Amino acid sequence: MPLVSMKPVLREAMEQGYAVAAFNLLDFGTTKAMIRAAEELNAPVIIQASTKTIKYFSHKEVYSWVATLAEDSPVPVVLHLDHCKDLEVIRKCLDTGWTSVMVDASELPFEENLALSRQVVEMAAKKGVHVEAEIGQIMGVEDDMVVAEDESHLTDPAEAERFCKELDLAAFAAAIGSAHGYYKGVPKIAFDLIKEINGRTKTPMALHGGTGLDEATIAQCIANGCAKINISTNLKHVFIESFLDYNKAKPNDFEPLRYIDAQYQACKALFKSKIAEFGGTNRAAELLAKAA
Ligand SMILES: [Zn+2]
Repeated sequence: MPLVSMKPVLREAMEQGYAVAAFNLLDFGTTKAMIRAAEELNAPVIIQASTKTIKYFSHKEVYSWVATLAEDSPVPVVLHLDHCKDLEVIRKCLDTGWTSVMVDASELPFEENLALSRQVVEMAAKKGVHVEAEIGQIMGVEDDMVVAEDESHLTDPAEAERFCKELDLAAFAAAIGSAHGYYKGVPKIAFDLIKEINGRTKTPMALHGGTGLDEATIAQCIANGCAKINISTNLKHVFIESFLDYNKAKPNDFEPLRYIDAQYQACKALFKSKIAEFGGTNRAAELLAKAA
């Protein structure tokens, strides 16, 4: 089916108490593995790309992979631009047919962030697309931008409420203690803050830094209002390690397709485990019935 927009998918997830997995694609093979994993579980899936990935391939190339695979698939697939502050990149993606975009102006003061995010919301609305936006900077490394723990401040719930009231977002990303990359110590997730923000904004929260959070933590994030969970770091590791492991096991095999397949199977297994863990299994049909 054609790509779907993110807002109704996440609203439904929030209402039903599950989260939709959002994976950062790396190439065509990982994209295909995401869609097959979703199909095998009859689940919705969000396929996203970082600005860095789009700059390496192109917004058109990435769109063609995802749209082609989604076209022949019975499950709802969202194509989402992850963390972006470049309005030109956002505009190109919207013009090409991407069904969701994130504007990340979180390093700016509140009013400037709101103004820039509003500009993107208005641009996206012309294409029938809703936006993910962020306030409070999330710790860790994203697209080579480092936010240290002491620079990161948790999102202010009153600001979150005003921001979401003015923007009517598909998803709201907040600094609630999670981090991009691997966690060094035990992550300190502010569950009460997630709950308070979600209660005030009534907007599905996007949990950034899903890699390395244990099942109990994930379950509590979902119970308190997270409806989109991003997985990127975990995939990067599985992607590289599965390739290397195959070579270690079969050092004399120079048939690339067998390497690619080993990588594909490992990535698909990761996607299936995350989709299932976040409660996405068997949600596709229900979602589509409501959308029809
Ligand atoms: Zn992120």
